[in-house]
Amino acid sequence: MTRALVRLEPPYTRSGGSYGDAIPLTRGPRLVRTNGMGRWHRPRSGVHLKRFSRTVLHVWCGQAIHVGDAITAVNLPADELLCGTCEGRAVGAGHPGTGTPLNEALLFEPRSSAPPPARCPSWRLMEHEVSGLPYRGVFACPVCGEATRTRAAGGPYNSHSVVEGHAPGPGLYAPCPFHRWDFPALRDGVAGCGCGAPTRPQVVAS
Ligand SMILES: [Zn+2]
Ligand SMILES: [Zn+2]
Ligand SMILES: [Zn+2]
Repeated sequence: MTRALVRLEPPYTRSGGSYGDAIPLTRGPRLVRTNGMGRWHRPRSGVHLKRFSRTVLHVWCGQAIHVGDAITAVNLPADELLCGTCEGRAVGAGHPGTGTPLNEALLFEPRSSAPPPARCPSWRLMEHEVSGLPYRGVFACPVCGEATRTRAAGGPYNSHSVVEGHAPGPGLYAPCPFHRWDFPALRDGVAGCGCGAPTRPQVVAS
């Protein structure tokens, strides 16, 4: 039988100062999430704040969750996701794994390989770059190739053109290894990352 409560780490903190009447919890729920969270997390430590009659769990991935706002679980519900950072850190620190099979439930989405944004990053182009685009009518977005247009933005004292928002097309430039699509820039009308790093993988000979 799986135990309802598991051992927690002490609520160690590197910052000084008094924690007043906070009582460290030695045991806590195995899994926790709020209604708004798309995945379960693993409590690392917890404190009960007497003064506020609140209990706060700190999960391994770094978030703090008020128990009053949370749902807890002993076992991972079928078809639900588990925070990969929480599980990896907890298991690495010697706590038992959440269960098997788990691989499909583990979720970690590094920003370094995130999919293209829902909105074409052409909205990040500099004003002087946008001013070089057709003023009227539809044209191919220089960043992604989708048909788009410019529109006026700003008030009477700072009016300028912006590229109308649209979902990125298949012509979106390859992501920069350092900045993904965060800093688009045009060089001779060709889009790429503003940092100029090559976006094709480089093979470095040893
Ligand atoms: Zn987590
Ligand atoms: Zn575009
Ligand atoms: Zn870059």
